[in-house]
Amino acid sequence: MAKKDLDWGNLGFNYMPCDYSYVCNYKDGAWEEGGLTDDHTLTLSEDAGIFHYCQEIFEGLKAYTTEDGSIVCFRPDLNAQRMYDSAERLVMPPFPIDKFVDAVKQVVAANADWVPPFGSGATLYIRPFMVATGNVIGVKPADEYQFRIFVTPVGPYFKGGDTSVKLAIAKYDRAAPHGTGNIKAGLNYAMSLLAVTEAHNAGYAENMYLDSQSRTYVEETGGANIIFVDKQGNLVVPQSATDSILPSITRRSLVVVARDILGMNVIERPVKFEEVLAGDFVECGLCGTAAVISPVEKVEGDGVDVTFPDCVGTSGPVMKKLRETLTAIQTCAAEDPFGWVCKIS
Ligand SMILES: *Cc1c(COP(=O)(O)O)cnc(C)c1O
Repeated sequence: MAKKDLDWGNLGFNYMPCDYSYVCNYKDGAWEEGGLTDDHTLTLSEDAGIFHYCQEIFEGLKAYTTEDGSIVCFRPDLNAQRMYDSAERLVMPPFPIDKFVDAVKQVVAANADWVPPFGSGATLYIRPFMVATGNVIGVKPADEYQFRIFVTPVGPYFKGGDTSVKLAIAKYDRAAPHGTGNIKAGLNYAMSLLAVTEAHNAGYAENMYLDSQSRTYVEETGGANIIFVDKQGNLVVPQSATDSILPSITRRSLVVVARDILGMNVIERPVKFEEVLAGDFVECGLCGTAAVISPVEKVEGDGVDVTFPDCVGTSGPVMKKLRETLTAIQTCAAEDPFGWVCKIS
């Protein structure tokens, strides 16, 4: 076993097949044993449910090398639980939580040579997903599924350092009230591609979506939750009255870090877009596995131009402290008081 000869410091966010994937099929009402494979392709019937009625769910997490050379990942049990919930919502057979965590450990350990070395800034991205493989022609759930995990090394999110981004106010909606915005399903992304393409073409990193029922409350972006710091220094975390925000594991971890480690006051509540317009917030950040927190300096849209003064150019002091504290726990550079880090080897 030797590390692959890759230019670890210059990896992008691209797919590179590694040695092994994990695969497990659901047939005759039960999940099979499952195991590792070196086949990185799927061959499916033209009538497989995924192609017609879009039964697909996924997860995303990362494995890292710590300073002492161990390989770890972060709270995989929460990814397992969220995928379980996503499956139930799309009438797919939930993949057992323990089996999910075990599969993550197996596939990362089998691809240890592909886990970027400590200090490179790169990580091994882990992508579990499940698709309907059984034939379906009338609209109904399929009766066969495949759960699969592939891994791929990816570069650091912040290539040019910790640089703030700009958001556009979306003119489209992301998620219907009480729809599927709270699960991690490919269908939520298919309908967001036009919005994000238009935002990118206009020079924005992402869209800020408001609740689609009233267009009054801040929800999230296409792929990351939003957090704010108000003038009093409170961490303000938007909640959705219509259950249409994706429960980000990074955001939920940051809430605990802010409250229990940094001693901050954390307020989780619906946040009106009017409060953003009124300049109530001095910092804004996007949170998700990829970047932990990306600072936001501006939100712009039809006649709207709001600046978060402490995040102009780069992270404000609170976002910076939050990111450093969580990253230190994730990489075992700091103590892990919550038992969040999962050791793989
Ligand atoms: C995956 C995702 C996030 C971030 O979740 P993490 O668990 O922190 O990676 C946020 N919003 C949406 C819509 C997502 O799909």
